[in-house]
Amino acid sequence: MGETVGRDPFLEKRRRLVERLVAEGIVKNERVREAMLRVPRHEFVWPSQMEHAYDDIPLPLGDTGQTISAPHMVAIMNELLEVQIGDRILEVGTGSGYHAATLAVLTCPSLDSPSPLVYTVEINSSLVKFAESNFVRLGFSRVIRVIEGDGSKGYPEASPYDRILVTAAAPKIPPPLIEQLKPGGRMVIPVQSRFFEQNLILLEKDVEGRVRKSNAGPVIFVPLRGDYGF
Ligand code: SAH
Repeated sequence: MGETVGRDPFLEKRRRLVERLVAEGIVKNERVREAMLRVPRHEFVWPSQMEHAYDDIPLPLGDTGQTISAPHMVAIMNELLEVQIGDRILEVGTGSGYHAATLAVLTCPSLDSPSPLVYTVEINSSLVKFAESNFVRLGFSRVIRVIEGDGSKGYPEASPYDRILVTAAAPKIPPPLIEQLKPGGRMVIPVQSRFFEQNLILLEKDVEGRVRKSNAGPVIFVPLRGDYGF
């Protein structure tokens, strides 16, 4: 990826977007900033949307009815997650793979981990293929493992996780995800109330396994499907 940076026609646009997120106080952590500067969002959007890749808006993923989250939402979630190098991460809702790619840079900046550190589950098989091809083309396939299935149940095979990210709105926090989070771990998940209002929830599990939740504010996400979804 480093080599392609010099020829990246979108580099200036990406820099401007990230600097704006810093100026707005959304990106605070230097590593979150670096990850967003490094991952080429235009390589993850649907090809017809490429010219909008650095607009701070969600974009449709073809005719799947799903969207790639807005850059500021990716930044807010990554700030809340406080990913440390070497963290084992579960993402529910791969979509384009963009968010997972930023998580991969945060946990393994060299991208050459001997085994995967980011496990990302996607229920839509055409998006599984889309994301996988993006990871292969851009050099993420060692660090990121894509699983096709219902991520509302988590992915117990690679658990427990230091960090869990859900990128679709759940009716409540799925109990299997709380179980699969390590003591000392953090989970970020949009939760929808009965009145269709969604809030971004940070769940922290302390070393004794006690859980604390805090509300990081209103958000808009597509619904989580599956056993613990809608
Ligand atoms: N993180 C993505 C954005 C994802 S949009 C990105 O960076 O592009 C939410 C995604 O969650 C959609 O792709 C949708 O198909 C997926 N999804 C919804 N319910 C799911 C479930 N139960 N398990 C796995 N994926 C799910």
